[in-house]
Amino acid sequence: MEAVRNSYPTLQLMVDANGDYAIDDAKHLAKLDKYGLTMIEQPLSYSDIYFHSKLQKSIETPLCLDESIHSLEDAITAVELGSCKIVNIKEGRVGGMAEAVRIAEYCHKNGIPVWSGGMDETGIGRAFNIHLQTAPAFTIPGDTSETKLYFTEDIVTPPVTLDQDGYISIPEGPGIGVKVEEDMVKKFEINREELI
Ligand SMILES: [Mg+2]
Repeated sequence: MEAVRNSYPTLQLMVDANGDYAIDDAKHLAKLDKYGLTMIEQPLSYSDIYFHSKLQKSIETPLCLDESIHSLEDAITAVELGSCKIVNIKEGRVGGMAEAVRIAEYCHKNGIPVWSGGMDETGIGRAFNIHLQTAPAFTIPGDTSETKLYFTEDIVTPPVTLDQDGYISIPEGPGIGVKVEEDMVKKFEINREELI
């Protein structure tokens, strides 16, 4: 972080620990405060909310919870305990679009900025992810990748692409805005069941 911060003094920076630290590392993690990070994401265990509250009280850098949040109830617990100052919402992790919107609305009302990272979605999930990020609570830049980063061929058109300024256009067709290409689904299918 020191090397990156020295090279880019004003860039918005964040780190994601993916649960690799323990509460005993609190003093070590506090050393990151001097780099002015936007957040440290998920420093402690995926199953923890409580120890994040202790860690957040001992460091200045905002903590963001990702894998610990599986539902609105988890988000409420985290906010009430002071376990984080930011939440990463992935609709695939919290059980779908409706729960993702509930969490976003709750966080928005409680002054907790949210953002959204992608998982390994095909273009269907990726389109949902982009639409989710148009909600007012999403004030931190999203982490949606171009289709070609994970797939040489996807099952929807058009693919997600970045423009020259790093922006992604919102799919504008009916529904989620992308078309499922049945030929591509058939090409990649490993099993088929037909319902009458
Ligand atoms: Mg993460």
